[in-house]
Amino acid sequence: MSFAKASVRDAEVKGRRVLVRVDFNVPLADGEVADDTRIRAALPTIELLRERGAALILMSHLGRPQGERDPALSMAPVAKRLGEILGIEVKLAAGVIEGDVDLTCGALGPGDVLLLENVRFEPGETKNDPHLAESLAQLADVYVNDAFGAAHRAHASTAGVADHLPAYAGLLLEREVTELTKVVESPRRPLVVVLGGAKVSDKVGVIDRFLEVADRILIGGAMCFGFFKAQGIETGNSLVEGVELAKEALERAEGSDCELLLPVDLVLGREFSAETERKEGEGVEVPEGWMGLDIGPRTAEAYAQAVAEAGTVLWNGPMGAFELEPFAAGTRAVAEAVAQAPGTTVVGGGDSVAALNRFGLEDEVDWVSTGGGASLELLEGKKLPGVEALLDAEEETVNA
Ligand code: ADP
Ligand code: MG
Repeated sequence: MSFAKASVRDAEVKGRRVLVRVDFNVPLADGEVADDTRIRAALPTIELLRERGAALILMSHLGRPQGERDPALSMAPVAKRLGEILGIEVKLAAGVIEGDVDLTCGALGPGDVLLLENVRFEPGETKNDPHLAESLAQLADVYVNDAFGAAHRAHASTAGVADHLPAYAGLLLEREVTELTKVVESPRRPLVVVLGGAKVSDKVGVIDRFLEVADRILIGGAMCFGFFKAQGIETGNSLVEGVELAKEALERAEGSDCELLLPVDLVLGREFSAETERKEGEGVEVPEGWMGLDIGPRTAEAYAQAVAEAGTVLWNGPMGAFELEPFAAGTRAVAEAVAQAPGTTVVGGGDSVAALNRFGLEDEVDWVSTGGGASLELLEGKKLPGVEALLDAEEETVNA
């Protein structure tokens, strides 16, 4: 199996203007970039293009400005941060379309980098408006999509624009798709999938897929309460979601070769707070007036063991409210097991990655995915519009 789309490595870019969709949707604090992980993730593609003599026009969305100019969501802090990292001046265009861009654009030489203003200031962006797509395309000779985190959206800057220019995959997007596809299509076995977190409804689709391809699914986080409720177990004030879907998953698991593991003990609190009264439950019943906020020590040990025995581990979603120190132990145990696992390890999901960083383990994992929603949709087996829109790889590159 190999990546089926044309790579930026094979694009003719010398002396040409290259429009690159990146995912610079970074957290801001006091008008500065608070975490530049996503900017750094795009550097390999940016550096490759600069080395090859392209003039770069970068574009991204930032937050949800709803098609209107919102000064608080300007890309200015991003331009500043990227300039610091690259050690060059990164110019910021006033907008994304012709009138706002062309003057600055005309002066752009090989190796120069221009960042367009927030593409979601344009109402046509999220509607994939063909006129917006066309005017974006007029800015450049070649299009590269490196915004894996936005590839599950069919927007003007991720999909529409690719109809008008030779369109290539960036290095990050290519690597993300390759690593995640490998997990579902050709994993070293056993494939152990650890699922947790709070966005349960977004993740039940992925359980269906993994019941078909994984050897074991370990459920933690708030996700387990939909399952417990479905089994008629008392859940107290725990966050319960997706009961019907959990019921269906339990039925499907019965007839499958995949083992679905649920917690055998829990850590309980009165409320979602670090100061709350805390107790370790005997089993998984949550009494009235309590909520389950972490997997218990026996569960953590069993899950760590399963991770250690895996040929491939995919982890998405923390095992508990790890932001609160009294409820972080389960997530820490799983994170450490993933870090030490001899198998191939892949971690996705914004909060799971934040947990890894918090425990200082991000370098101990084989692949840390930058795209939450996009990675789940890809793992589910859905086509990503931002990938589909790109040129297919030519025969010789596939065979290379
Ligand atoms: P990711 O970003 O890794 O995909 P999610 O966004 O789905 O993960 O969920 C992360 C959130 O889940 C964290 O803020 C964590 O506090 C919360 N969480 C985990 N377990 C529980 C629980 N038992 N009860 C309430 N919230 C939980
Ligand atoms: Mg999250």
